[in-house]
Amino acid sequence: MPQLLDGKAVAAALCEKLRAQTAELKSAGITPVLATVRLGERGDDIAYERGAAKRCQSVGIDVRNCVLPEQTTQEQLLSLIASLNADPNVHGCLIFMPLPRHIDAAAVCAALAPQKDVDGITPVSQAGVYSGRATGFPPCTPQACMEILDHYGIDAAGKNAVVIGRSLVVGRPAALMLLSRSATVTVCHTKTLGADAIAKNADILIAAAGRAGAVDVKYLRAGQTVIDVGINVSADGKICGDVRFEDAADVAAITPVPGGVGAVTTSVLAKHVIEAARRSACPERS
Ligand code: NAD
Repeated sequence: MPQLLDGKAVAAALCEKLRAQTAELKSAGITPVLATVRLGERGDDIAYERGAAKRCQSVGIDVRNCVLPEQTTQEQLLSLIASLNADPNVHGCLIFMPLPRHIDAAAVCAALAPQKDVDGITPVSQAGVYSGRATGFPPCTPQACMEILDHYGIDAAGKNAVVIGRSLVVGRPAALMLLSRSATVTVCHTKTLGADAIAKNADILIAAAGRAGAVDVKYLRAGQTVIDVGINVSADGKICGDVRFEDAADVAAITPVPGGVGAVTTSVLAKHVIEAARRSACPERS
């Protein structure tokens, strides 16, 4: 049986540290504040908004949920972002994606102040992930994968790491983060030929395809560490990852779904809000 990399345990350890940091900030007169921005009533946005608020509040962060109608114009959205950028009491801002089709998402991402960009959507944050320097913040989900590796003492240096998926929010930054940790990294995507054989060669496999069961026994071997980022709904209506869990009996370690990466992501968001508040109090930290 593989070791289960328990996201709840990682989140609990992280949150304990975060509570101490918010207490320190509050004693200096600063309450960290996260603003969330949601357009419309998509169920998964509402669920994530609720989860993020609960996690942030549990470590002492105040949360302001800004909810706008789906028909909100680009100008109205940019005006809200400008007001959040200008508000010294707001330290972090999370904008739910994807935005409605009539909105230019790239322009919205670029409009957010990088110092408040706690989910790594601005070009400045993306450059930080690319260069390995801490400008802005990395996206929360791939950072959650790194937190899991760190918590369990899994060193990526010198290892073969394979990332399945190349999206801007998960696969691509995860690959760059592993490269910064001196892994030898291969990225697989829908046009990759022989992804199964490539994945089988991985010491560390990050699955972020968003396809239930895409990673089966042909991709897995004994000794691997597998981080399953996928959140999918199976044919029988259950939440599942990308990895066929029953095919992973021989791997060394694996994150469950649910209870793996998803459980850590909101804690990373809270960590970034607190770091943004600390940087605002002490700009030389930026
Ligand atoms: P996406 O659809 O934007 O990207 C998926 C990527 O996987 C693409 O690059 C595509 O080329 C690749 N891909 C798809 N099928 C493949 C296959 N069979 N073989 C190889 N590559 C394949 O999705 P995303 O936003 O990157 O999210 C990926 C998954 O992670 C989704 O299930 C999503 O729900 C989940 N997710 C989880 C969290 C979390 O906190 N755990 C956060 C964000 C996203």
